[in-house]
Amino acid sequence: MIMSLFAFILGSSLASFLCVVVTRLKRNESIIFPQSHCDNCQTVLHTWELIPVLSYITLRGKCSNCSAKIPKIGFIAEISLGTLFILATHAVSPISAAIIFTWLTLLTLEDLSDQQLYQWETLGFMITASFISPNPFVFIGFIWTLSLIITRINYRERFIGNADIEIVLAFFLIVGNLTTLIIIFIACILALLFLCCLKNYRYKLPFIPFLSIAFIITTTALNIFSEQNFMYKKSIEIISRCFSW
Ligand SMILES: [Zn+2]
Repeated sequence: MIMSLFAFILGSSLASFLCVVVTRLKRNESIIFPQSHCDNCQTVLHTWELIPVLSYITLRGKCSNCSAKIPKIGFIAEISLGTLFILATHAVSPISAAIIFTWLTLLTLEDLSDQQLYQWETLGFMITASFISPNPFVFIGFIWTLSLIITRINYRERFIGNADIEIVLAFFLIVGNLTTLIIIFIACILALLFLCCLKNYRYKLPFIPFLSIAFIITTTALNIFSEQNFMYKKSIEIISRCFSW
């Protein structure tokens, strides 16, 4: 229970920080300075107003000074990453699971913000996936080569966003071929359902949120992060390798 609470606080605090990172990067502002403030009246937030989840509920989603609405997305991100961190505590490799969930939250927030992802974000996710990947180096090299070729072709033709391609390829590294195909399928279904529900949706659809949700649904349903799977095998592999040295 205490472990879950700690995980939730850690996850929601991290999500709160990621929201600040995404907002400030878009404005070319420093991530550290100035202190957190209301975007409308510029009032610096009190310490208690920085507490994730609880501050939003206490303030009823409004600034304590000017009553301007606080974006709901931050609250949703805090609850989501907090819950995902609780989920990660049940994984054989909680740290790997938590890192993947954090990356996915950052990428989702970026995509929802303006669909312009920075190169370091997608590359960082692919590098993380390569480190976590239980696959042999040949496969990892193959995926990176494939990424270079596809993104180069797509750069000219613009079939879909390059970030979507890199994230899907990172999924191949983390969960393997079949699971990734299931994730893509579920993400497409979710996106279609979204479009059906919002018939007046006229904007370009950000696809990374659907990929992230599909990734979480699939890995949870298939128990990817639990004992019978790769995280477990990977840990055993690393331990046995250490002993063989
Ligand atoms: Zn305000």
